[in-house]
Amino acid sequence: GPLVEVAELTVRYGAATALDRVSLTVGVGELVALVGPNGAGKSTLVDTLSGILVPASGSVTVRGRLAHVPEGRQVFGDLSVEDNLRLGGWRIGERDTAAVYAVLPALTELRRRRAGLLSGGEQQMVAVGRALMSRPDVLVIDELSLGLAPLVVADLVRHLRELNAWRGVAVLLIEQNARLALDLCSRAYVLEAGRIVAEGTSAELAASS
Ligand code: ADP
Ligand code: ADP
Repeated sequence: GPLVEVAELTVRYGAATALDRVSLTVGVGELVALVGPNGAGKSTLVDTLSGILVPASGSVTVRGRLAHVPEGRQVFGDLSVEDNLRLGGWRIGERDTAAVYAVLPALTELRRRRAGLLSGGEQQMVAVGRALMSRPDVLVIDELSLGLAPLVVADLVRHLRELNAWRGVAVLLIEQNARLALDLCSRAYVLEAGRIVAEGTSAELAASS
């Protein structure tokens, strides 16, 4: 079956329903987007995938390892890029950063730099690299483009495509920026007020919007 399978998922905060019978899948090696405005329920879905929130009903199945790149270029600013990467591997005892440099070559030149002094796009790449250290089957990336210039985002998207092609890592991209999502991903789901209101290939969604 798919790597990530969300079936008829309902999540509530007290009496408020944040997700209402949401279903989605991410297959092996797929690039899938979840698009929606603020308050749609995107964070709630990610927190349920991570096991932080418990569903009221429905189910979440993750077959394989999931890594999460949180919103906001979260790096350890006082540490070098290399040490930021190593921290990403501590759970599985992974210390070898070579595979990450191979797939994100731009990080190689930055390896001794202090992460806090890098540009926003570079920090976002470090955050992706750190997540890769756990050798995930699927990467959940929150708001990749937030606060970044379009050219920087284009560069990150290129790296993600290469990553996907080279390693077969699946990506679930959580985005407010529908254009970016449709550009990178082969399939997308549109979430509004806790419900999936549209889904399809990028071409289908672009034609209907
Ligand atoms: P998004 O990530 O798409 O902005 P969220 O998942 O953060 O959306 O929020 C979905 C809905 O759930 C919103 O109406 C939000 O106000 C509500 N919500 C989120 N977190 C909580 C919480 N801890 N308690 C109560 N309501 C919450
Ligand atoms: P995001 O930008 O990821 O959508 P938010 O800014 O909506 O996150 O929420 C930040 C934090 O506040 C989260 O922990 C979320 O659960 C919580 N939160 C969001 N909406 C509400 C709400 N209506 N009541 C209580 N907590 C909320």
